[in-house]
Amino acid sequence: MSQDNCILRELNLKDKNIHFTDNEAGEWNYFDYRGRGDKRHKCLIYTANLTYSVSRCSDCGFRDCVEHWGWTSTEMRLTGTSLWDVRLALRKQRFHCKNCGNTFTAASSDFKKNCQISRNTKVIVKQNLNEDMMTEKL
Ligand SMILES: [Zn+2]
Repeated sequence: MSQDNCILRELNLKDKNIHFTDNEAGEWNYFDYRGRGDKRHKCLIYTANLTYSVSRCSDCGFRDCVEHWGWTSTEMRLTGTSLWDVRLALRKQRFHCKNCGNTFTAASSDFKKNCQISRNTKVIVKQNLNEDMMTEKL
């Protein structure tokens, strides 16, 4: 758990429901390549699971009828303390309501729904754009 806190801080994330996983070599991150042709570049990849307990269905509101229903995977773009393009290979918990049949995916305060760029990354990009605009005006 303390490892999670250290990595969350390093990646500028806050959601305690993100649990990082290491690979067979015991590494918490690894390098891999993304993109094609001229856009192919080296990335630093972290892997994690996003999961938590749900007591109520988000659709019908019934209690104690939600069960775990597999996982869905996505790759999020992050800003970290390194110079690399930092990515988070995130497995998100799926849930199923036994009462109404609704299925839904775990959500994180660090990422907007259906968006693969972290909220903090967006803030940093906006700040850099504002600084560039201020520099041009001078
Ligand atoms: Zn339901």
